[in-house]
Amino acid sequence: MPFDRRYIIILIAALMAAGIWAHAFISPKTLDVTVMDVGEGLCVVASTPSGKVMVMDCGTSSWRKNDTVGESVVAPYLRRLGKDRIDIAVLSHPHSDHVSGYAGLLQEMPAALVLDIGATEHASPYYKKFLRTVKKCRSTYRIARRGQKIDMGDGVKVEILNPAKSTDYFDLNNRSIVLRLVYKNSAILLAADAESPAESDILNSNIPIRAQVLQVGHHGSEAGSTARWLEAVNPSIAIISCGRRNKYGHPSAKTIDRLTSFGARVYRTDKCGAVTISTDGRTINVDTCTKSR
Ligand SMILES: [Zn+2]
Repeated sequence: MPFDRRYIIILIAALMAAGIWAHAFISPKTLDVTVMDVGEGLCVVASTPSGKVMVMDCGTSSWRKNDTVGESVVAPYLRRLGKDRIDIAVLSHPHSDHVSGYAGLLQEMPAALVLDIGATEHASPYYKKFLRTVKKCRSTYRIARRGQKIDMGDGVKVEILNPAKSTDYFDLNNRSIVLRLVYKNSAILLAADAESPAESDILNSNIPIRAQVLQVGHHGSEAGSTARWLEAVNPSIAIISCGRRNKYGHPSAKTIDRLTSFGARVYRTDKCGAVTISTDGRTINVDTCTKSR
């Protein structure tokens, strides 16, 4: 009967609308962390369930104009996510493959808080420009030290694992800011360019480091990711940021073997493009080959 059919169609439409509404409002919000494809360098963008943004590093050594990576790759990516400012900007250490594009990014998207290691003896032009831009943007500037914790809201915490107050490595890689992003039962460890000396120092401090996701230290070089470190972090997902056919031979085959022997699935930005981790605090999804440029 025509009347009954119309009634059923209206009912189905109403149920579908209710379903879409319920999905939009009830589906769990996620912490999303993207290791960008910036060639040989590092840039990690984290976005909390309520939309706060943390960036760790913004540099590359692969491009002809290394200082444009912030304005031409990272800022457009953040804009696509609907962001126009950064809540926390972390500079792990001032090597050019981590800082080259940071000033350009901060000029477009100022940061409320900047975390740095304060390596003022390393007076490279990129780092000087970064510090000048931080000052110009009137960001709060803080030196990161082990044990500091930052609450990003929604239960998302940033825990600083390195450097310690007493760290005095000459080598900047081992003074890298290493941090753990924790959201409920999920943890993502960003090791920046830390190698075995920093790893043992963190391990000896007995600070919690377990994490399902590890951004592998120093672009997967042989100098880091020791068996002791991997056993303690126990990652099921390992992400390596490195450039295609880079001159340093990153990542090392030995490091990849070690990671896989510990049961981690390895993702490399030179092969997969940007790698995005999404977690509701319980389960973790990986999405690769996101076009970030
Ligand atoms: Zn590096």
